[in-house]
Amino acid sequence: MRIAVLTRNASLYSTKRLIEAAEEKGHEVHVLDTLRCTAHLTASGPEVHLHGEKLEKFDAVIPRIGASITFYGLAMVRQFEATGAWCLNGSVGIQRSRDKLRSHQLLAKAGIGLPLTAFAHDPESAEDLIRAVGGPPVIVKLLEGTQGVGVVLCETKKAAESVIQAFRGMKAYLLVQEFVKEAGGADVRLLVVGDKVVASMVRQGAEGEFRSNLHRGGSAYATKITPAERKTAVAACKALSLRVGGVDILRSDRGPLVLEVNSSPGLEGVEKATEIDVAGKIIDYIDKQATPKAPAY
Ligand code: ADP
Ligand code: GLU
Repeated sequence: MRIAVLTRNASLYSTKRLIEAAEEKGHEVHVLDTLRCTAHLTASGPEVHLHGEKLEKFDAVIPRIGASITFYGLAMVRQFEATGAWCLNGSVGIQRSRDKLRSHQLLAKAGIGLPLTAFAHDPESAEDLIRAVGGPPVIVKLLEGTQGVGVVLCETKKAAESVIQAFRGMKAYLLVQEFVKEAGGADVRLLVVGDKVVASMVRQGAEGEFRSNLHRGGSAYATKITPAERKTAVAACKALSLRVGGVDILRSDRGPLVLEVNSSPGLEGVEKATEIDVAGKIIDYIDKQATPKAPAY
């Protein structure tokens, strides 16, 4: 197969592993810098060009779209879709995963467990928001945050009100969420490929830290998951129309609660923690699924 990897950086661990796995399995891999691809729209059909030349049609496209280039990245994935290329994750799924409000709505609609959550831009009363999620302690999050930055644990109503006011002052959208204390500063990252969970790891926050992000000093180790966790992760990807996703869940007293679904999940942490060849599993999946008759997502 002719496979394109859309990425800004061919030397990232995840990109390298995907290229390696695809080549090992005999595929022809082209690494395309997302921001250098250009879209050409003519009466004879949509085309993608790179370095002034038209790209021949790919059998499969693996989009690795970082949050910072979501807008142009999505435009390029749409252009590849328009050329008839099969995309591992389509533009619709990637877009849904990037919008926390949209993804929470879709997950809630599909009956998937979530921490109690309220959204606001300019709430008249911080008190109402805090009450809506069951009162303090609460988590206040910036909608645009990643890697745990902009996620604040507020132990008291006063603290929560000041944080909400501070975020409001920045004209930022915010989300207020019940604090799932029993998760113990850990979450579980489940790697979904198709309708299977191929690898899972616990990420445990550093001592005294409720955020488990590896960027915040957390550590990761392989874990066995429950059938409910497996079902939740697969259903979460399905609700967002993602074929591949990194689903973050909290282990709560009332079962798995989805925090977020990542449409370009990093492979380094999970492959190292579990010693599972996740890249190989993704390529095997593409090999089976990317046929000319495959339904577009
Ligand atoms: P980001 O997208 O910036 O990583 P998250 O919403 O995933 O932000 O939050 C970062 C971390 O904080 C999570 O991985 C989890 O460990 C912790 N966390 C987030 N929300 C909650 C919550 N409602 N209850 C308990 N812990 C939480
Ligand atoms: N960006 C990587 C991912 O989404 C790592 C995120 C993290 O460890 O917090 O899988």
